[in-house]
Amino acid sequence: MAEAREPKIILKPGREKSLRHRHPWIFSGAIERVEGDPAPGDTVTVVARDGAFLARAAYNPQSQIRARAWTFDADEEIDAAFLRRRVEAAIARRTLLREGSTGMRIVHGESDGLPGLVADRYGDVVVVQLLSAGAERWREAWGRILVDATGARSVFERSDVEVRGLEGLQPRVGALVGDAPASVRIDEDGIAYEVDVAHGQKTGFYLDQRDNRLLARSLARDADVLNAFCYTGGFSLAAVAGGARHVESIDTSEEALALARRNLALNSFDASKAEWIAADVFAHLRLYRDQGRKFGLIVLDPPKFAPTEKHVPNAARAYKDINLWAMKLLAPGGHLLTFSCSGAVGPDLFRKIVAGAAADAKVDMQVRRQLGASEDHAVSIHFPEGEYLKGLWLQAA
Ligand code: SAH
Repeated sequence: MAEAREPKIILKPGREKSLRHRHPWIFSGAIERVEGDPAPGDTVTVVARDGAFLARAAYNPQSQIRARAWTFDADEEIDAAFLRRRVEAAIARRTLLREGSTGMRIVHGESDGLPGLVADRYGDVVVVQLLSAGAERWREAWGRILVDATGARSVFERSDVEVRGLEGLQPRVGALVGDAPASVRIDEDGIAYEVDVAHGQKTGFYLDQRDNRLLARSLARDADVLNAFCYTGGFSLAAVAGGARHVESIDTSEEALALARRNLALNSFDASKAEWIAADVFAHLRLYRDQGRKFGLIVLDPPKFAPTEKHVPNAARAYKDINLWAMKLLAPGGHLLTFSCSGAVGPDLFRKIVAGAAADAKVDMQVRRQLGASEDHAVSIHFPEGEYLKGLWLQAA
């Protein structure tokens, strides 16, 4: 059995509880000792103090998350066939979601039993991020597995993210299979978007907001809409498609705005319906206030203000600020879709911050619905950390 030759991690007494609850992370403080000499990414057997088998995991001496469990099954070996089974299962689970969009997350890391692997499909291109030493260890395997499982023509890597630093890994960008795709197009619920997979944010597009874009579309009819932090115009185009009177979209990134404009043209939408503003949202909301502007629908989807726990106090101030100013700009009965993608800001805290903003803005707001990421970003019930995107659909009195 693999167990005999594999290096071993022995946990401190009592520290096996989270693994028994199928949470995949083993923190450095939980480890009593390591037997053998595993290199970063190597598979180790994790046992309780009494020797009981707990998991087979990817080891990383350079990370606070010292190991990430691949499997809780003692009979399962970690090899390319195992990874292939997991990828195929992740894709099979999403069969029903394929309808309506050619863009979809097909592997969502820990929640799909593949710690550190993110894979997004855009038409016949798959974009991957390898975010852990374990995912990195199997770099050679992913390309072939993903091509076989999807029929895609190329697999492109976008591992240029800060979390790799916490794992002791360098950023990497480039083709794993096929050519680096120049321009990729998706069709999401009847709207075409061009996706810049090589230079765009994350893997190129915010697939996690698909359901919320549909919601925005349903609320936009005849409204003056403000889309703050618009990136390549996802919510803006949804609002135009939904019959908005006029849509103003703000982002600091000129490249993102240029692509947003192209996306509007791609769909042959009336260009006079949309205005693209290169500005800082914090300043621009105040300007709108001075101008006495009002909007029937406002979307606030800022970048991750709190990348880690220590950023939470500053992030809370920033979230409160934009929500407060947005609420002051809502027309009577107007809708606000407000989001946070900071994992360190939980749903309860986010709600408190937004409530504080409403109190300071002296407006009465109703929660119409709690919002989250689309279903292709389904989260394992044992891994609450996977639920990074949270939002509220609020309506002004
Ligand atoms: N809502 C978008 C994703 C937003 S990502 C979608 O659905 O596609 C966050 C965006 O905020 C990025 O495009 C980034 O360029 C922009 N941004 C960051 N800080 C900003 C600021 N202070 N003012 C305006 N835009 C900002």
